Amino acid sequence: MGDIKKNISEIEEDIKKHSLNPEKSRFIAVTKYVGPEEMLPIIDCGVKVFGENKAQVMKDKQEKFNEMGIKDVEWHFIGNLQKNKVKYIAKYVKMIHSVNKLSLAQEIDKRAKQYNRIIDVLLEINIAGEESKEGYDLEELYKELPQLMELKNINIIGLMTMAPFVEDEELLRSVFKRLREIKDELNEKWFKGKLVELSMGMTNDYKIALEEGATLIRVGRKIFQ
Ligand SMILES: *Cc1c(COP(=O)(O)O)cnc(C)c1O
Repeated sequence: MGDIKKNISEIEEDIKKHSLNPEKSRFIAVTKYVGPEEMLPIIDCGVKVFGENKAQVMKDKQEKFNEMGIKDVEWHFIGNLQKNKVKYIAKYVKMIHSVNKLSLAQEIDKRAKQYNRIIDVLLEINIAGEESKEGYDLEELYKELPQLMELKNINIIGLMTMAPFVEDEELLRSVFKRLREIKDELNEKWFKGKLVELSMGMTNDYKIALEEGATLIRVGRKIFQ
């Protein structure tokens, strides 16, 4: 395991340097690679915002931290979420980044209601149209939007995308830029400025994402390298 403290401070410096709006940009420590004990050094650095992509794992870690008396942790779900797993996280999850169909949104809404909560969610958009990636294409999204917006126990506050895994900087930049344009368009036509978050950028491309308006970067590998 590398120098976690140094890596985290590099990420925080990069946010100041590259973000269009450093005060409103945050980094989510993606901890899917490690167990709960290995997350403690991250907490020691003052970071308590964690991204996980498996509901059962998030649940186990959340319970473990509860037992250990670790408070104020923010859990962000970032992966493909199956409907039947929403129940594992609905009680405490802060934000779900990967809402990509109406039936999933309805399930989150239903579970949130059971706990008398309103859960922040992002709509995942498949910008590059890659078959292998999850996420809405725009036509689908526009079709489902009226029903999505009726759900009272989810709060749609932004968009998320996974860029293609390539090194072509211009291509990556165009994907991130497109997500920002879609956010602006949706704000104008539907959300009246309520969409404020853009979750985009991972270890290999987060600087470009910040330059194109990311407010949430999801960084895993760089923390541990
Ligand atoms: C794993 C993962 C990340 C983090 O990727 P790194 O390359 O480890 O920084 C970000 N977003 C999602 C959805 C992931 O599954």
